[in-house]
Amino acid sequence: MRSAPWESFERPNGRAMRYAVLMTLAHPQRPPWLKVRFPAGGNYQRLQDLMRDQSLHTVCEEARCPNIGDCWSRGTATFMILGDTCTRSCGFCAVATGRPGTVDTGEPARVALAIQRMGLRHAVITSVNRDELEDGGAGIFAETIRWTRRLSPETTVEVLIPDFKGDEAALRLVMDACPEILNHNTETVPRLYAHVRPQAGYERSLEVLRRAKAMDAGALTKSSLMVGLGETRDELLAVFRDLAANEVDILTVGQYLKPTPQHLDVVRYWHPDEFAELKERALEMGFKHVESGPLVRSSYHAEEQAGHGGGPRFRPRFANLEPVSVVALGAPGSEPDA
Ligand code: SF4
Repeated sequence: MRSAPWESFERPNGRAMRYAVLMTLAHPQRPPWLKVRFPAGGNYQRLQDLMRDQSLHTVCEEARCPNIGDCWSRGTATFMILGDTCTRSCGFCAVATGRPGTVDTGEPARVALAIQRMGLRHAVITSVNRDELEDGGAGIFAETIRWTRRLSPETTVEVLIPDFKGDEAALRLVMDACPEILNHNTETVPRLYAHVRPQAGYERSLEVLRRAKAMDAGALTKSSLMVGLGETRDELLAVFRDLAANEVDILTVGQYLKPTPQHLDVVRYWHPDEFAELKERALEMGFKHVESGPLVRSSYHAEEQAGHGGGPRFRPRFANLEPVSVVALGAPGSEPDA
């Protein structure tokens, strides 16, 4: 019998219900280990209201992440800055492609305010690709990190960045803001890049991670891969070796799930035992922390991945700053004091 992949019996709101229907249509044969919680409940609604009030986007919603019921019920989310329209068209990603709007210079302050209101110990911030901008949006990333520091100095910051078309100066803008974790996803094996992420390059992604570590040896670097797109185990292990050779600290591996019927097909569902074996092999290669499982996503339980729950090393690098109020910082869009 075909069943919906949701376990919760809480009554969903309209948006959540539409989301559930889409996910069920996209995954009619989903194996039992991919069952997830229905997105609903008080915390879910509270976060939705906060995001709408502050005109913010999350990758949880825009990318139709299957973990949204779990993460949002725990009060965590991943912010997606620089708008909700991406200049690239990766075949696995549900974020809309098109011509983005103008840059919202007030967004960094509003993201920081939301992080403060949510009381996050660890904040994960990502973005769409903005290839039409001279710095690829790196300046807005840096400003968002600085605002977060000033409003929530005890909060550690992880940025999941695009490749900025390989622009070293753009990467330096981000690294100069000193995120605790610099995350850039490899996503898939090199053979599948043209099919899965045609506007990206495997070597370029490795270079982003290598340069980030060279620019700030005190930051942890992190990368994620999806499986289920047709890659082989040997190809995956070769990518793990490349990442380890470039001193990447944290690796996550999860099952690709087709977000809508229009996206790339799932070639196969990897079994939980295979994920466990991949984790063992990766740990042998020297990664400080590895998460590998069907529902693992780059930002899933990122707080634990990064160390709040016993991961590799974790200490807010600027915890001696005094928290300040938004009023003291001036109007959103103004640069906080360095
Ligand atoms: S795994 Fe990441 S993107 Fe998915 S719901 Fe959780 S925080 Fe959001």
